Amino acid sequence: MTAAWIALVAIVGSLIGSFANVVVYRWPRGQSVVRPRSRCPGCGRTLSPLDLLPVLSWLALRGRCRTCGARISGRYPAVEAGFAVAFGVLAWAYPIEAFGLTVLPLLVLVSMLGMAALIDLDTYLLPDGLTLPAIAVGIVGAWAYDPAAGLPTPAEAAVGAAIAAGVLVLINRLGGLVLRRLRDTEERLWPFSLDAVNVAALAGMLGGRWWALAAGLAQVALSALARRPVRLPEPWVYALWLTALIVALGGWTLTWGVDLIEALAGSLIGAGTFALLGAAWWWLADLRAAGPAGGTRIPPAEEAGAPEDDEGEPVAMGFGDVKLAAVLGALLGTTGFLVGLLLAVVIGAVVGVAQRALGGSRFVPFGPFLVVGGLLAWAFGDALIAWYLNLLGV
Ligand SMILES: [Zn+2]
Repeated sequence: MTAAWIALVAIVGSLIGSFANVVVYRWPRGQSVVRPRSRCPGCGRTLSPLDLLPVLSWLALRGRCRTCGARISGRYPAVEAGFAVAFGVLAWAYPIEAFGLTVLPLLVLVSMLGMAALIDLDTYLLPDGLTLPAIAVGIVGAWAYDPAAGLPTPAEAAVGAAIAAGVLVLINRLGGLVLRRLRDTEERLWPFSLDAVNVAALAGMLGGRWWALAAGLAQVALSALARRPVRLPEPWVYALWLTALIVALGGWTLTWGVDLIEALAGSLIGAGTFALLGAAWWWLADLRAAGPAGGTRIPPAEEAGAPEDDEGEPVAMGFGDVKLAAVLGALLGTTGFLVGLLLAVVIGAVVGVAQRALGGSRFVPFGPFLVVGGLLAWAFGDALIAWYLNLLGV
């Protein structure tokens, strides 16, 4: 039964991998992922089911079109095989006899992460329509996890998502500030702006997570009432933030006695929560502007009448990575995410240096490394932490 079940799930995985190939190709081009049926890019012949058997068709046809002999990239069967392996491993690691439906949200999440990583690899973009729903799956799906499976509770998934987004959005804000040589940002979104992120980050560093959430909420509410972005200059906010961090590192507090851990957690949870709420707001506004039938994408800044948005400014970390990190934070919880982020940075640096040495592109999208690092941390995180502590002699 178990072996048959694992094999069945792996076969389903290969079919989802085949669908992922279609999604990864068509989504960034604004095409429907359902219709029309797949065609050969060489001769335009509609592919028959026999051409579409995952991995097997490619092997049988030796990577060429049956009609015109055009080469078919080896990435397609590789993706199908990768999905099959991932699905099989998950079915094996979370057997339904022991853990019930635990595996279902995991299969959905891993599929969405795989597609996001491949789209980022091809286009340097991470579609909101993929990452934001995946965050919801990660948090809501946690209700389906068996308590014995060792996965995050819904609350841990939500905190993990917020902290993960917080780490990346603060790198985005602080890195951007450095790249702008400490000048204030030109970003003027209304009613949901990055000012809520800044204010929440500062309040969290001063008073913990509840202060952070209250301050961010107050910023959004005041902006909505004032009908303009109510803002504090970004350089000042982060000068105060850094001062509060140094004070907390010294073991003192500026306000109500939150310790260093709660100051850091509060700052990250606040910043991450408002980054994600803002992202969801602008995504939905974008969808509404485009209408149910789709159509041309209207940049949120234009719609809000803002003179300029963040895209005109240099950034250290793209906003798509903030949302992708939140998916991994929901799946892995806070500690697992931090291990995954560390692995992503190390692997990304090695690959980036190698790519440069080989004369390749200067730009490396971070999303694929985030996904690979996160999945490695998920599989081997506990072993890695134990090995590291052992190394330290703890
Ligand atoms: Zn052909």
